[in-house]
Amino acid sequence: MSMTWSAITPSLEQLPDLQHLPTAARRFFEKNRVASANFKRMAPQRSEWIGNHTFRLKAVACSDGRMNDFWLAIDTYAGILEMRRTVGGILDPSDYAYNLEGWQGVERAERTEVNGMTQAKAIMQFLTVHYSHSNPLSGCLKRKNQTQSGLEDAQRNTAYLHEAYPGSVVALPILVDTDLDAIVVVGPKGRLGTRELLDDSRMEGGNGYAHVVDLLRKIIPTNWEPLTRLSSPFRVRFHEELAERVVGNLAFVRSVIKSKRPIETAEHKEQIILVGRHADWITETNTAFLIDDRETKEQLFESFEIGLLCCAKTAILEAIKAGDREWCIPVIVNIPHDGEKDEPVSKAYVRRLVQLRLSEKLRRSAPSILARIMSKEDGLGNTKLPGWLQTSLATFVDRVVFIMSVSRRDRRLFVPFA
Ligand SMILES: [Zn+2]
Repeated sequence: MSMTWSAITPSLEQLPDLQHLPTAARRFFEKNRVASANFKRMAPQRSEWIGNHTFRLKAVACSDGRMNDFWLAIDTYAGILEMRRTVGGILDPSDYAYNLEGWQGVERAERTEVNGMTQAKAIMQFLTVHYSHSNPLSGCLKRKNQTQSGLEDAQRNTAYLHEAYPGSVVALPILVDTDLDAIVVVGPKGRLGTRELLDDSRMEGGNGYAHVVDLLRKIIPTNWEPLTRLSSPFRVRFHEELAERVVGNLAFVRSVIKSKRPIETAEHKEQIILVGRHADWITETNTAFLIDDRETKEQLFESFEIGLLCCAKTAILEAIKAGDREWCIPVIVNIPHDGEKDEPVSKAYVRRLVQLRLSEKLRRSAPSILARIMSKEDGLGNTKLPGWLQTSLATFVDRVVFIMSVSRRDRRLFVPFA
């Protein structure tokens, strides 16, 4: 079958009607239209930010929807922090070279001016591990709430990255408490958490930033080997640029506390799964389960299974509340697109393949996923299900609705197509 790009998506200017989509998917695309307009509007601020910083920011994070606002929680704009999403926030170090090229290369300044000299930007890479401060059982599903082993994985991977990319990557494990989106920077000589800064009187009176720089220098000494390998302007700026993230996170945590965001946000409430990239504009925590499409097949499948588990629970509980017999789990499979010349139509077939693989995986794994949804340990084992809902579970596979979309990287605009 021959198909041109324009046949798949007639025009990104004529946005399609979203009414036929399942509610949760429709909301995702509606919110995206607003976010995309903001993204376009913020272009000057983004350029300015990139111009003022010597490090590019990257993070590996769990697909868990509670990590979606991490970029906001560390006070950046959409598009500044490049996120890679996979269950457990697993980094495949052998795959990192591709990640270094990065899909944001096009829009980001790759070089920075330092003392009149142009230099390649260095990368500040965060390896995040999430947990819940209030409930040890509300941590990472993939890691079975074993935060310590997640941290050890992250530490192993930071060591690998420093070995493989001396002088260009400085990697740090970051613990994220999803109750408040509070971070803990894990340095080679100790930790610094924003929770402990909440009551620190030295943060008052406008001296907070300098104080955080001092604290960071204690836990990440300037003679730490990965830093000594950087050229000197980067070495100088490292603690300052990291301190900005910590101070920004402290302000974010204060705003979460003030907003009285309910602690049940610490429970999974994802409504859709998105397989793809560029969904780094999402400001709401806990609505979408994000899976990077650059994963290995095994990781993709594992992420997909856990995503289905999380979304099925939300969908079923909502269906019971609303008496909705038409409940479903939308899975959006997205094709990143940089314009006709950069993104050949074959990419669409690749993504269709993803969709076929995922639906095949779904058919094969439906019994075990269903068992997990119904289990007391991970699922709804303690919830009484009405008869009609139990009947609908018999056709669980048909409750998963695949939606294809295409996204423009330069606008963060997601457009569904038939
Ligand atoms: Zn997780």
